[in-house]
Amino acid sequence: MIRNLARDVQAFTSNVFLVTGETTALVDAGANFDLLARLSEHVDDLDRLYLTHTHPDHVKNVGAAREAFDVETWGYDADSDYVDNGIADGETVPLGDDEYEALYTPGHAADHLCFYAAETGVCFAGDLVFANGGFGRTDLEGGDRPTLVESIEYLHETVEDGLSALHVGHGPSVTERPLDDVEIALRSSQMG
Ligand SMILES: [Zn+2]
Repeated sequence: MIRNLARDVQAFTSNVFLVTGETTALVDAGANFDLLARLSEHVDDLDRLYLTHTHPDHVKNVGAAREAFDVETWGYDADSDYVDNGIADGETVPLGDDEYEALYTPGHAADHLCFYAAETGVCFAGDLVFANGGFGRTDLEGGDRPTLVESIEYLHETVEDGLSALHVGHGPSVTERPLDDVEIALRSSQMG
Protein backbone atom coordinates (compact mmCIF):
# COMPACT_ATOMS: atom_id res chain seq x y z
CA MET A 1 0.00 0.00 0.00
CA ILE A 2 1.31 3.42 -0.97
CA ARG A 3 0.19 6.64 0.74
CA ASN A 4 1.35 10.20 0.30
CA LEU A 5 1.77 11.55 3.84
CA ALA A 6 2.32 15.10 2.60
CA ARG A 7 -1.02 15.22 0.85
CA ASP A 8 -2.81 18.50 1.59
CA VAL A 9 0.13 19.87 3.55
CA GLN A 10 0.18 23.64 3.08
CA ALA A 11 3.93 24.14 3.39
CA PHE A 12 7.00 23.87 1.20
CA THR A 13 7.58 20.13 1.16
CA SER A 14 8.06 17.31 -1.28
CA ASN A 15 5.62 14.43 -1.33
CA VAL A 16 6.38 11.72 1.22
CA PHE A 17 5.34 8.20 0.26
CA LEU A 18 4.75 5.63 2.97
CA VAL A 19 4.97 2.15 1.48
CA THR A 20 3.77 -0.58 3.80
CA GLY A 21 4.39 -4.31 3.46
CA GLU A 22 7.26 -6.61 4.24
CA THR A 23 9.62 -3.62 4.22
CA THR A 24 7.80 -0.58 5.54
CA ALA A 25 9.62 2.42 4.17
CA LEU A 26 9.38 6.05 3.22
CA VAL A 27 10.34 7.53 -0.11
CA ASP A 28 11.57 11.00 0.89
CA ALA A 29 11.01 12.62 4.27
CA GLY A 30 9.62 15.99 3.30
CA ALA A 31 9.93 19.29 5.19
CA ASN A 32 8.04 21.82 7.28
CA PHE A 33 5.27 19.55 8.57
CA ASP A 34 4.88 17.06 11.42
CA LEU A 35 5.91 13.84 9.70
CA LEU A 36 5.77 11.76 12.88
CA ALA A 37 2.17 12.70 13.61
CA ARG A 38 1.12 11.62 10.14
CA LEU A 39 3.22 8.45 10.26
CA SER A 40 1.74 7.41 13.60
CA GLU A 41 -1.72 7.28 12.03
CA HIS A 42 -0.54 4.30 9.96
CA VAL A 43 2.55 2.58 11.41
CA ASP A 44 4.50 2.09 14.65
CA ASP A 45 7.80 1.41 13.01
CA LEU A 46 9.80 2.13 9.93
CA ASP A 47 12.33 -0.24 8.33
CA ARG A 48 13.95 2.09 5.84
CA LEU A 49 14.00 5.64 4.52
CA TYR A 50 14.86 6.17 0.87
CA LEU A 51 15.79 9.55 -0.58
CA THR A 52 15.33 10.43 -4.24
CA HIS A 53 17.77 13.31 -3.69
CA THR A 54 18.87 15.61 -0.90
CA HIS A 55 17.25 18.96 -1.70
CA PRO A 56 15.95 20.56 1.53
CA ASP A 57 12.25 20.06 0.74
CA HIS A 58 12.87 16.29 0.57
CA VAL A 59 15.14 15.84 3.60
CA LYS A 60 14.39 18.31 6.38
CA ASN A 61 12.30 15.69 8.22
CA VAL A 62 15.08 13.07 8.07
CA GLY A 63 16.30 14.02 11.56
CA ALA A 64 12.87 13.53 13.11
CA ALA A 65 12.48 10.11 11.49
CA ARG A 66 15.96 9.01 12.56
CA GLU A 67 15.32 10.10 16.12
CA ALA A 68 11.90 8.49 16.42
CA PHE A 69 12.62 5.15 14.73
CA ASP A 70 16.38 4.84 14.70
CA VAL A 71 15.86 4.29 10.99
CA GLU A 72 18.68 4.30 8.44
CA THR A 73 18.55 6.17 5.17
CA TRP A 74 19.45 5.11 1.64
CA GLY A 75 20.35 7.43 -1.21
CA TYR A 76 22.81 7.94 -4.04
CA ASP A 77 25.50 9.99 -2.34
CA ALA A 78 26.91 8.22 0.70
CA ASP A 79 28.99 11.33 1.49
CA SER A 80 25.83 13.29 2.26
CA ASP A 81 24.95 13.71 5.95
CA TYR A 82 21.45 12.62 5.07
CA VAL A 83 22.55 9.31 3.52
CA ASP A 84 23.67 6.37 5.68
CA ASN A 85 23.82 3.83 2.85
CA GLY A 86 24.77 4.53 -0.75
CA ILE A 87 22.78 2.99 -3.59
CA ALA A 88 24.40 2.52 -7.00
CA ASP A 89 22.66 2.73 -10.36
CA GLY A 90 20.97 -0.58 -11.12
CA GLU A 91 21.03 -1.76 -7.53
CA THR A 92 17.86 -3.39 -6.21
CA VAL A 93 16.30 -2.44 -2.88
CA PRO A 94 13.30 -3.80 -0.94
CA LEU A 95 10.33 -1.46 -0.62
CA GLY A 96 6.91 -2.58 0.56
CA ASP A 97 6.41 -6.08 -0.84
CA ASP A 98 8.50 -5.53 -3.95
CA GLU A 99 12.03 -5.13 -5.18
CA TYR A 100 12.75 -1.77 -6.78
CA GLU A 101 15.60 -1.01 -9.12
CA ALA A 102 17.39 2.27 -8.44
CA LEU A 103 17.96 4.40 -11.54
CA TYR A 104 20.64 7.04 -11.28
CA THR A 105 18.98 10.02 -12.96
CA PRO A 106 20.92 13.28 -12.46
CA GLY A 107 20.02 16.60 -14.06
CA HIS A 108 17.68 18.12 -11.48
CA ALA A 109 20.15 17.22 -8.74
CA ALA A 110 23.52 15.52 -8.99
CA ASP A 111 22.46 12.79 -6.57
CA HIS A 112 19.03 11.95 -8.00
CA LEU A 113 17.54 8.46 -8.04
CA CYS A 114 14.27 7.03 -9.34
CA PHE A 115 12.97 3.68 -8.09
CA TYR A 116 11.16 1.22 -10.35
CA ALA A 117 9.55 -2.15 -9.65
CA ALA A 118 9.38 -3.95 -13.00
CA GLU A 119 7.06 -6.61 -11.60
CA THR A 120 4.28 -4.19 -10.64
CA GLY A 121 5.20 -1.25 -12.90
CA VAL A 122 5.30 1.20 -10.00
CA CYS A 123 7.81 4.03 -10.23
CA PHE A 124 8.91 6.69 -7.74
CA ALA A 125 10.34 9.40 -9.97
CA GLY A 126 11.33 12.09 -7.47
CA ASP A 127 11.78 15.45 -9.20
CA LEU A 128 12.75 14.06 -12.61
CA VAL A 129 9.28 14.16 -14.18
CA PHE A 130 5.85 15.21 -12.95
CA ALA A 131 2.19 14.69 -13.87
CA ASN A 132 1.11 16.16 -17.21
CA GLY A 133 4.62 16.02 -18.59
CA GLY A 134 6.32 18.44 -16.24
CA PHE A 135 9.99 17.89 -15.53
CA GLY A 136 12.49 18.94 -12.87
CA ARG A 137 14.03 22.40 -12.84
CA THR A 138 17.72 22.57 -13.65
CA ASP A 139 18.63 26.01 -12.31
CA LEU A 140 19.55 24.82 -8.82
CA GLU A 141 23.03 23.71 -7.78
CA GLY A 142 23.91 20.43 -9.48
CA GLY A 143 21.28 20.99 -12.16
CA ASP A 144 21.99 20.50 -15.87
CA ARG A 145 19.41 20.37 -18.68
CA PRO A 146 21.19 18.03 -21.17
CA THR A 147 21.85 15.63 -18.30
CA LEU A 148 18.19 15.83 -17.29
CA VAL A 149 17.09 14.95 -20.83
CA GLU A 150 19.39 11.91 -20.81
CA SER A 151 17.96 10.84 -17.47
CA ILE A 152 14.37 11.11 -18.74
CA GLU A 153 15.42 9.02 -21.77
CA TYR A 154 16.88 6.44 -19.40
CA LEU A 155 13.71 6.41 -17.31
CA HIS A 156 11.54 6.10 -20.41
CA GLU A 157 13.60 3.21 -21.76
CA THR A 158 13.39 1.41 -18.45
CA VAL A 159 9.66 1.77 -17.82
CA GLU A 160 8.13 1.81 -21.30
CA ASP A 161 7.00 -1.81 -21.29
CA GLY A 162 5.28 -1.83 -17.95
CA LEU A 163 4.71 1.47 -16.19
CA SER A 164 1.44 1.34 -14.23
CA ALA A 165 1.82 4.09 -11.63
CA LEU A 166 4.04 7.14 -11.42
CA HIS A 167 4.59 8.69 -7.98
CA VAL A 168 6.41 11.99 -8.20
CA GLY A 169 8.10 14.40 -5.81
CA HIS A 170 5.54 17.19 -6.16
CA GLY A 171 1.91 17.20 -7.20
CA PRO A 172 -0.38 14.29 -7.98
CA SER A 173 0.54 10.70 -8.81
CA VAL A 174 -0.45 9.34 -12.21
CA THR A 175 -2.20 5.99 -12.54
CA GLU A 176 -4.01 6.50 -15.86
CA ARG A 177 -1.64 5.96 -18.79
CA PRO A 178 1.39 7.24 -16.86
CA LEU A 179 3.74 6.51 -19.76
CA ASP A 180 2.05 9.33 -21.70
CA ASP A 181 3.20 11.79 -19.03
CA VAL A 182 6.78 10.50 -19.23
CA GLU A 183 6.72 10.82 -23.04
CA ILE A 184 5.40 14.39 -22.90
CA ALA A 185 8.09 15.25 -20.34
CA LEU A 186 10.72 13.72 -22.60
CA ARG A 187 9.57 15.68 -25.66
CA SER A 188 9.15 18.99 -23.81
CA SER A 189 12.54 18.71 -22.14
CA GLN A 190 14.20 17.96 -25.49
CA MET A 191 12.68 21.12 -26.99
CA GLY A 192 14.71 23.18 -24.55
ZN1 LIG B 1 14.55 18.77 -5.80
